Amino acid sequence: MPADHRTASEYRRYLRQEMMPHILCPGCGHGIVLGALLRALAGRGVDPDQVAMVAGIGCSSRLVGYVDFCTLHTTHGRAPAFATGLKLARPELAVIVLTGDGDGLAIGGNHLIHAARRNIGLLCVLFNNQVYGMTGGQLAPTTPSFQRTATTPYGNLEPAFDACRLLTAAGATFVARGMTLAPVPLQDIMAQALAHKGFAFVEVLTECPEYYGRYNRLGTGAEMLLAQGRLPEAVADRLARKTFLPVREEGAGAAAGGQVRPGLAFGILHREERPELTEALRAASGGARG
Ligand code: SF4
Repeated sequence: MPADHRTASEYRRYLRQEMMPHILCPGCGHGIVLGALLRALAGRGVDPDQVAMVAGIGCSSRLVGYVDFCTLHTTHGRAPAFATGLKLARPELAVIVLTGDGDGLAIGGNHLIHAARRNIGLLCVLFNNQVYGMTGGQLAPTTPSFQRTATTPYGNLEPAFDACRLLTAAGATFVARGMTLAPVPLQDIMAQALAHKGFAFVEVLTECPEYYGRYNRLGTGAEMLLAQGRLPEAVADRLARKTFLPVREEGAGAAAGGQVRPGLAFGILHREERPELTEALRAASGGARG
């Protein structure tokens, strides 16, 4: 589904303008991710009263304060649990979880994998900034090997999670990865994820310039963003030709400068049909809602 570029400005109606200015650091890519999501919602003509956005704790989770939907800012890592309860009670709503890599994959890893396993109709957008940002730049489960953080000053010796592989194995029925360098393909991914029936997981690379970038001397936010383009030729070429989706680039993603882990794949990586939980529950109860 091509991105609807007429919606480029219409998404502003989804913002709580009175909450500006936002708290994100200069050069942070999180606004690019939110913009892609809001444009995808605007492209589908979504009524803001029919959207519930649920977040945990962290820089990305703070974004729910800036959007004019029904919003829940919950406890660390627990957004999928709150969202599951909300979706069960109000299955007609589009329920969207915003989470970070520390929030979603470490503290909340248990809740995330079980939401995927249940195939409940949520869209989960995971902002992968490769570090704990809000709390001061500590090691996250996505921090690439040998990179420095506040808690690994001599370099990280642990391997990193591949969130998309993890969520695919857990049972998510739509799994995709985008990057802040490519907001138009990201908007396409968001639109397809919103249209998916079941648990949709979208990871977005949006590396933190303030901590991850500074500790590893990766330059300014703009320089880090441009460095995402130093991907293998096959991916860079698809980006240039805007044929990013839905091709699976297994094994691609090794970037110069160590910013993007080798082996990361981009685009829509997995899609399958499986009964969505709230529909299955309704069918099992004979269509009654109590
Ligand atoms: S700490 Fe990092 S992730 Fe958080 S707002 Fe600042 S740049 Fe963005």
